[in-house]
Amino acid sequence: MKRIAVLTSGGDAPGMNAAVRAVVEQGIHHGLEVYGVYYGYRGLVEGDFRLLTLSDVHHNIRRGGTMLYSARYPEFKHKEYQEKAISQLEKFGIDALVVIGGDGSFAGALSLSKLGFPAVGIPGTIDNDIPGTEYTIGFDSAVSVALDAIDKISDTAASHNRTFVVEVMGRHAGDIAIWAGVAAGADAIIIPEEEFLIEDVVRRTEAGRSAGKDYSLVVLAEGAMDVDNFVEQFQVLAPDQSVRGVTLSHIQRGGTPTARDRVFATLMGARSVDLLIEGQKAIYLGVREEQLTVFDIVETLEKTEHQVRQDLFQLNQKLTDRGN
Ligand code: ADP
Repeated sequence: MKRIAVLTSGGDAPGMNAAVRAVVEQGIHHGLEVYGVYYGYRGLVEGDFRLLTLSDVHHNIRRGGTMLYSARYPEFKHKEYQEKAISQLEKFGIDALVVIGGDGSFAGALSLSKLGFPAVGIPGTIDNDIPGTEYTIGFDSAVSVALDAIDKISDTAASHNRTFVVEVMGRHAGDIAIWAGVAAGADAIIIPEEEFLIEDVVRRTEAGRSAGKDYSLVVLAEGAMDVDNFVEQFQVLAPDQSVRGVTLSHIQRGGTPTARDRVFATLMGARSVDLLIEGQKAIYLGVREEQLTVFDIVETLEKTEHQVRQDLFQLNQKLTDRGN
């Protein structure tokens, strides 16, 4: 093996650059040339490749976003585009590919592996929603940004005895809401995976107030309900409370990656190169019980579903149920 390539695809996530840097460092360590593919699968099909050196990547370990850029490119689901990508890779003499992205991106990596071109995945998404792995690069940074914003909102909420409903990212997965909500001591956490009643949320906030809290906090995952609609219904049921809704939106994607995101990105980036050299394909890296773990794309993505941390969710439910 002489040359490998790396791309980022799907939604950007802090720590993707640290993974790219580790792929380049480890590739060079093994005497390989490492190419960056710009704009995800679109760049793969169009041949947007550039040879990467240490000076291209080393500063980026501390930067959010992705230095290789990303793109949504639904065309890649079709075999003719996958074959075009392989022709481009062959034209550049590239033997194997690292794909950093979410489960959609992994499906692209799988399609290349099925056509005989080795590709391995590294989980990069703030949503933490990839089956198998307990952790994805970017999640820790997104939670810490969300928590920082919630803490600031809590200062003003307390000063005016208000109730704030903070909408965090998570269209299909409640992970950010659970982690940020538990860390902020929220009165209620609302996630797409669990049914809820606004009456019950009102009851929890009222019980908190009766127990001496000077503000109330609800953390709502975007996929569970529209925040404006939630606030409107909440206000009708709790006319005595001063309620405000806030959407954190894209700030959760940006910023400096946390140490945890950079460390796991580095571990995964380096290991992905080792796995390609060993001749592996159609696999992705992840974390189980804090250990780097290899998952089979077909076995894991097609046969299992992502699970949120029910123990944390239930703990929050229990702690904020003051029994009124
Ligand atoms: P994520 O990787 O974050 O889940 P997407 O689902 O948008 O994000 O997927 C990113 C890209 O991966 C898509 O724009 C497309 O180029 C490619 N992709 C997604 N699903 C498939 C698939 N089933 N087969 C091949 N390529 C896919």
